[in-house]
Amino acid sequence: MAQGITVWLTGLSGAGKTTICRIAADRLLRRGIRAEVLDGDELRNALSPDLGFSREDRMQHARRTAYVAKLLSRNGVVVFVALISPYREMRSHARREIEQFVEVYVKCPLTVCAKRDVKGLYRKAARGKIRQFTGISDPYEEPDHPDLVLETDRESPQESAEKLLQYLKASGRLPPEPS
Ligand code: ADP
Repeated sequence: MAQGITVWLTGLSGAGKTTICRIAADRLLRRGIRAEVLDGDELRNALSPDLGFSREDRMQHARRTAYVAKLLSRNGVVVFVALISPYREMRSHARREIEQFVEVYVKCPLTVCAKRDVKGLYRKAARGKIRQFTGISDPYEEPDHPDLVLETDRESPQESAEKLLQYLKASGRLPPEPS
């Protein structure tokens, strides 16, 4: 079976991780390549309803996510993980655990994310209604050496997804299209 890969997207809430993952996964699925999106919010409901947002709980949630991604990607699936994953320690854990792994920094200024406020969370956080909110009252540690950076305040979601797929293709990381 062709080797899969885990493509791990990190970035602030509202930076564009989920949007990019969904577009990229759809494009691969249409070409007959098996792809899956592991969305941090969805996975929290499914796998981690017991966890909150302390550093230790976030670490635990990231470890669970990495475990699922590892199982899928070693079975030929291209796995797109959309997880804020604000701590370097989480991302290096995932990189250690998963044989085929790419780290993508979905970069967008906090002010732009807060203006988009896709889920209304920044407004709540600004009013002090959410504790430990990444970028406001909890740190986001920027990746030191990401494999790829997507600057979503400067390009459309389609362009970002296209750049991601181009990168994966050019670095020989996509499984072959079925004939
Ligand atoms: P996240 O998963 O990082 O929390 P979302 O994908 O839920 O973020 O939301 C990102 C928002 O930003 C969407 O409304 C999306 O349309 C918008 N956006 C603007 N430009 C981009 C881009 N280049 N890539 C991804 N999203 C973008």
